[in-house]
Amino acid sequence: EHYPALSPLPPEALLNLDRQHVWHPYGPMPGRQEPLVVASASGVRLRLAAPAHGRSELVDGMSSWWSAIHGYRHPVLDAAVRDQLGRMSHVMFGGLTHEPAVRLAARLVEITPEPLQHVFLADSGSVSVEVAVKMCLQYWRSLGRPAKRRLLTWRGGYHGDTWQPMSVCDPEGGMHQLWSGVLPEQVFADAPPPGFDAEPDPGYAEHLRELIGRHAAELAAVIVEPVVQGAGGMAFHSPGYLRVLREACDEHDVLLVFDEIATGFGRTGELFAAGHAGVSPDVMCVGKALTGGYLTMAAALCTGRVAEGISRGEVPVLAHGPTFMGNPLAAAVANASLDVLLGQDWAQQVKRIEAGLRDGLAEVAGLPGVRDVRVLGAIGVVQLDHPVDMAAATAAAVRAGVWLRPFRDLVYTMPPYVTADEDVARICAGVRDAALAA
Ligand code: PLP
Repeated sequence: EHYPALSPLPPEALLNLDRQHVWHPYGPMPGRQEPLVVASASGVRLRLAAPAHGRSELVDGMSSWWSAIHGYRHPVLDAAVRDQLGRMSHVMFGGLTHEPAVRLAARLVEITPEPLQHVFLADSGSVSVEVAVKMCLQYWRSLGRPAKRRLLTWRGGYHGDTWQPMSVCDPEGGMHQLWSGVLPEQVFADAPPPGFDAEPDPGYAEHLRELIGRHAAELAAVIVEPVVQGAGGMAFHSPGYLRVLREACDEHDVLLVFDEIATGFGRTGELFAAGHAGVSPDVMCVGKALTGGYLTMAAALCTGRVAEGISRGEVPVLAHGPTFMGNPLAAAVANASLDVLLGQDWAQQVKRIEAGLRDGLAEVAGLPGVRDVRVLGAIGVVQLDHPVDMAAATAAAVRAGVWLRPFRDLVYTMPPYVTADEDVARICAGVRDAALAA
């Protein structure tokens, strides 16, 4: 009944094969760094196949890149996958439909800002951004304005690793510089001034308005990460700038896309970060925590106006249809994840973690080499005044029994919402040790 029937590979043999054959995110081939081998995970703990720096169990401070909001092996999510597996794991979505996907789409419409009505179920965050951009470009093409095909975004953003998303990533952050001059040329506004609580800066608001106005004839959409820019630098900004974008987009006939792939499903303290500003986009992307981190699924939602515009075109369909679109296993576990999230006082859980991070990271602010400490919702960030030594910082966190993935000048955490107070404290100790070792 168990697969694989063979005994597991010893960690050394597994690592040898890994180095030779397996590409890791942003990794060289053959591999140079030794990844830790995870044998199993439950609750907020990763169990290693072989001890590392004296630890065989780590508290996960990363939620598997924002996604595992309920931790691992949650009984409700496990049951949802098992039950769905008993019916079907996948069927094509062309010409067929099924309850898990339909329920999920209706649920997403219900919980996202009101004008969003239609849902495209994509298979990853990057693909949902591709689809969102396609919706916007096709909308203007259908209305006879094909010149509106560029995007405006903020510097310091990150929207994924496929072609259109790469073109709106931070152009100087080192992620995709290799492709400058090859990617579609977009319009970049300065990054928003930092500080969630800071009053919006009138000069910066004017910069946004002016740029949108100046490029309106060629702009299909503005695309931004609302309130928190994630992998581009873990920067927080005032929600007020989202209102500025909404007004300028309305004034100049430009669509507004919010990429809530990282911020969605409660992470910043609102169910969606747009809620901090009370602003609705025309198109919105969600992913990551959509399935509680169990399976790969994302979605691009749009308003009735966008869908109707596309339907009026010479090609009246949205020409996109991935093989694994609407995957029933992923949709079933996404429904279960939403049940768990919304069936509890999730806002209180996130507030509790926010308080724990504020407490635990307060002492880090005074340490040598630390430029800034910031916390919002279940996100804690320590920014250093120098680039991190990734290997040394990770090792220090592991020694403290914590899994973190520092990068650039950042040591940061976004724990699962189920993390107990003492584990939040342990994560903060891991962040401190990592920052000191970096
Ligand atoms: N957009 C944002 C804001 C993200 O944080 C990410 C992933 O880190 C993506 C898009 C891309 O999502 P995926 O990695 O699922 O393709």
